[in-house]
Amino acid sequence: MLVHDERHSKGAIAPPIYQTSLFSFDSYQSMVDRFRGDTDQSVYSRVGNPTVSVLLDKIRRLEQGEAAAAFSSGMAAISNAILSLVKSGDRIVCVKDVYPDAYRLLRGLCARFGIIAEFVDGSDLAAIEATLPGATLLYLESPNSWLMQEQDLVAIAKLARANGVTTIVDNSWASPIFQKPLQSGIDLVVHSASKYISGHSDTVAGLLVGSRSLIETMNAEVTPYLGAKLSAQEAALLLRGLRTLPLRMQRHQESGLMIAERLSQHARVKRVFHPGLARKDYSLLRGYGGLFSIELAGGVDIPAFCDALSVFRLGVSWGGYESLVMPAEVSINQAGEHNSAVDFGVSPRMIRLFVGLENPEDLWTDLSQALAGA
Ligand SMILES: *Cc1c(COP(=O)(O)O)cnc(C)c1O
Repeated sequence: MLVHDERHSKGAIAPPIYQTSLFSFDSYQSMVDRFRGDTDQSVYSRVGNPTVSVLLDKIRRLEQGEAAAAFSSGMAAISNAILSLVKSGDRIVCVKDVYPDAYRLLRGLCARFGIIAEFVDGSDLAAIEATLPGATLLYLESPNSWLMQEQDLVAIAKLARANGVTTIVDNSWASPIFQKPLQSGIDLVVHSASKYISGHSDTVAGLLVGSRSLIETMNAEVTPYLGAKLSAQEAALLLRGLRTLPLRMQRHQESGLMIAERLSQHARVKRVFHPGLARKDYSLLRGYGGLFSIELAGGVDIPAFCDALSVFRLGVSWGGYESLVMPAEVSINQAGEHNSAVDFGVSPRMIRLFVGLENPEDLWTDLSQALAGA
């Protein structure tokens, strides 16, 4: 689907950046009309900004949803969405091995307000079905973190609707280019736009797309008061990222699959977790990103392997130009009360790889020399 630019004022080809906190009114009457809700003039950038609005319209059309909201981070999109849907005493069902901070939000902060989160194996449809009666919200991430497990979103959305349970999917891994969960009956899609949508590892931002009624409720009851708005500058960076998103995703897919396939043949690699190497018949993915995991064979010294890499860099996050590695053991040893890597038994022999946009043969040379030497 094509999402082309509308025309901007004075013929600007790039959307103008409205770097302003407030928007003044021409007359007393125009201010009255706006506050009554009769016009949609911008008032204050915590609540709305024209540069952000251009972005919202694009992401809404890309995900084929009715409305969208933008936030200062992916976690702000996730927490605003969750808090707009639940109240004290409610139960949330969440698939295992979601993004670790989403897990901590559900296990820690939500529990403080009497909202109980229950974690279920996302590949077990019967287990999901059994937890749904009486739940308020089902939180999904497909593919999920570390194991890259896909959930049967079509079947799950149907079960959730039958039980009156609202569904959220974290779609950061696939981006709207390779997966559009709203088409399958999912209610809300969240993105860490810090990843592929920004695409250059220079912004932290979040986006959310869904029905007009869900987004309007959130905008009326939650978002203005939590105040985690996206700035106009960062909206402009995301708009720039969107222009090349399909091209970048194509390259991440090609390089990622090539490297995943070679690693799956490598004697020092025990297992590769890549959705393209274990295709599910229910998969909604139209393509694959560059993020996947490997489990190293017993003899490989993991710190030595990581330190021997020179193109791949050690770091959290992903989605930009640079290729990255994240060792599971570091996550497992992370301090803090709630740790999904520990709770769900992620193997300390796993490494998460992000295959960036560099020359794929350079990336392969880097990985093979590090595997040979470690
Ligand atoms: C990074 C990430 C998030 C959190 O997004 P931030 O922009 O860092 O707040 C959520 N989900 C997934 C899958 C992520 O990778």
